[in-house]
Amino acid sequence: MKITKIEIGYIDIPLVTPFKTALRTVSTVNDLLVKVTAEDGTFGIGEAPPTAVITGDTKESIEAAIRYYIAPAIRGMELEPLEDVMAAMEKAIAKNTSAKAAVDIALYDLYAKTKGLPLFRLLGQKAPEKIETELETDITISVNETEEMVRDSIRAVENGFRILKVKVGKGGEKDVERVREIRKAIGNDPILRIDANQGWTTAEAVRTIQAMEDASLIIELVEQPVNYHDFKGLQYVTAHVDTPILADESVFSYEDALRIMEEHAADLINIKLMKTGGIHEAVRICDAADKNDVQCMIGCMLESKVSVSAGAHLGAARGCITMADLDGPSLCKEDPYTGGPDYVGAKILLPETPGIGITEVPAAFEEV
Ligand code: MG
Repeated sequence: MKITKIEIGYIDIPLVTPFKTALRTVSTVNDLLVKVTAEDGTFGIGEAPPTAVITGDTKESIEAAIRYYIAPAIRGMELEPLEDVMAAMEKAIAKNTSAKAAVDIALYDLYAKTKGLPLFRLLGQKAPEKIETELETDITISVNETEEMVRDSIRAVENGFRILKVKVGKGGEKDVERVREIRKAIGNDPILRIDANQGWTTAEAVRTIQAMEDASLIIELVEQPVNYHDFKGLQYVTAHVDTPILADESVFSYEDALRIMEEHAADLINIKLMKTGGIHEAVRICDAADKNDVQCMIGCMLESKVSVSAGAHLGAARGCITMADLDGPSLCKEDPYTGGPDYVGAKILLPETPGIGITEVPAAFEEV
């Protein structure tokens, strides 16, 4: 079956509260959507957020990569083997992982629909016994003044979230205070994940994490303590603290993930489709993680339900993915889509409908 049409559109969804990390502040999800249609009229949907500070991809660059490079390369190709379509996309343009992710997700959605399979069943075919149909996500607590973070944490726990991902990385000592006060306010039951978003130096990271350990703040893991290209620093932190270290911004490709595993530069890996360029490369990372017995998190940027749900399908399909950080839809004020997984508090429930499951998208599409 041939790929006949590629379209793009945009959605704009306000957030419940501004999203603040050591890198940025954002108040709406303004993402590009991709629709890929096959000759029998079946279509798949993909999505990409412009996350310039992490991926380097802007709204304009994502649109241009799809319009001028990716769409001309894959239009008219046979959908099967999907490998060949992915190879053509990879050959058409280097990097541009968000643009590739949007098209990759739409292609997987379309492909799974033509097979009549939910995406998680398609992706979990090699080890169907590992498939789970329900995930539990954490929720992000933005980095702010301590009192505000304590308030946000209490509200998250009241709303049913058992796992909080606390953004830090804005002054090591202050960060210890932030986490100490949050732990004091919510008690010892909720799980705390800490994300420094590259905000510490190597020495500051070791000092700060050790201070949290000494204060018995019970931290499940610390995410990306140091700058993304500082593999040596990341490795040093991993070797000098007891708390598991999760690599996020340091891992885009399969090669990055392999290097982290081989050099033991981190204990865990955060897979995000916008970094890998979609499901195709993420599956390669999962295969390597299985081989090396490394656990992964499936994460997202500030995305809405289309691409976050693609990540949820992968998380449900693969046993190496033991943690979900898929709170994008929970941070949005509204859900403009029809169909797809249900996001109920911290739970993500995957439907047994073909593809990702989303049947209607409220965007005006333009053919490219
Ligand atoms: Mg992170």
